Amino acid sequence: MVLKLDRSRGCLLGGAVGDALGWPIEFCSLSEIELRYSHGYREAAFNGAVTDDTQMVLFTAEGLLRAYVAVQKSPLWATHAAYARWYRTQTEQYPAEFEPNDGWLLPHQALWDRRAPGNTCMSALGAAGYNPLRADNNSKGCGGVMRVAPIGLTHTEPFETAGRISELTHGHPTSSVASGAFALLIAHIARDQMPLLAAVDAVIGYAAQQEQSGETVEALSLARDHATLGSGRGIPAPLAPGLNGGGWIAEEALAIAVFCCLAERDPIDAIYRAVEHDGDSDSTGAIAGNILGALLGTEWIPDEWLRKLELREVIEQMAADLVAITEGRATSDLAKRYPA
Ligand SMILES: [Mg+2]
Repeated sequence: MVLKLDRSRGCLLGGAVGDALGWPIEFCSLSEIELRYSHGYREAAFNGAVTDDTQMVLFTAEGLLRAYVAVQKSPLWATHAAYARWYRTQTEQYPAEFEPNDGWLLPHQALWDRRAPGNTCMSALGAAGYNPLRADNNSKGCGGVMRVAPIGLTHTEPFETAGRISELTHGHPTSSVASGAFALLIAHIARDQMPLLAAVDAVIGYAAQQEQSGETVEALSLARDHATLGSGRGIPAPLAPGLNGGGWIAEEALAIAVFCCLAERDPIDAIYRAVEHDGDSDSTGAIAGNILGALLGTEWIPDEWLRKLELREVIEQMAADLVAITEGRATSDLAKRYPA
């Protein structure tokens, strides 16, 4: 149960590069991608711009870090407050000055760009009160699941915590279960250092014991079966039998990412496969990137991508800070970046 720095970094940087890879084609069908990139999407330049997926991952991490620094604050409360700060970045002008309690993350200007923020997250956070309650909607859009990887890196009850943090914006039980399953998967591969297939099996087994988990268990089981039996070979991920919805909803986004990571031996093949399809490319790319990095660290990520990646230093600092709290370290630097 040790979190190594390279896996923490790999998970967050991998998610960000998957997000950036998917962003230019988030709203394109596969045939539009083929038309637009006549030499193939792999030949297109990686531009490094990240979207709401990476922004919200950073605010999730900030919530966990602030809860740790404050000691008495629950991750749920602190993450709720962190998402309120993200909501500010999407609805207000960049302010002339910041308050000390705004912390270290909020002033990074790139976070204030609107990169197709999810409607459900925006409306739920716009309507949210002071208390961290389950959102008053029945959405299982993938905006609940795409942001919870940091919980798997740090938390001892990742399934339960991620489920509740997902509920802050997405009220459908499948969003909670898929989010819990994703955080548990990250915990198993990054901290327990389980091989991916064994971790997926363990997550399916755990989720199957939970209430209202049918849709998530079915989607993950299909992903595992198609990937391991080879029945998904050579076809775009969402066209694998049973995974044809494009990942706009929670359990599909997770299943598509898991399918791509299991089906491809080469992580670059896996990440491209996770974005080149009709569906929600940046979110499926982000989730796949989180998984690949939690598993492999940072070595698989091309230098050119890292050089161009927006918010890279912020992401790397956050990854190091998450490791510090799993080791029980409390430094004055942490207290400064994450005021209680
Ligand atoms: Mg996005």
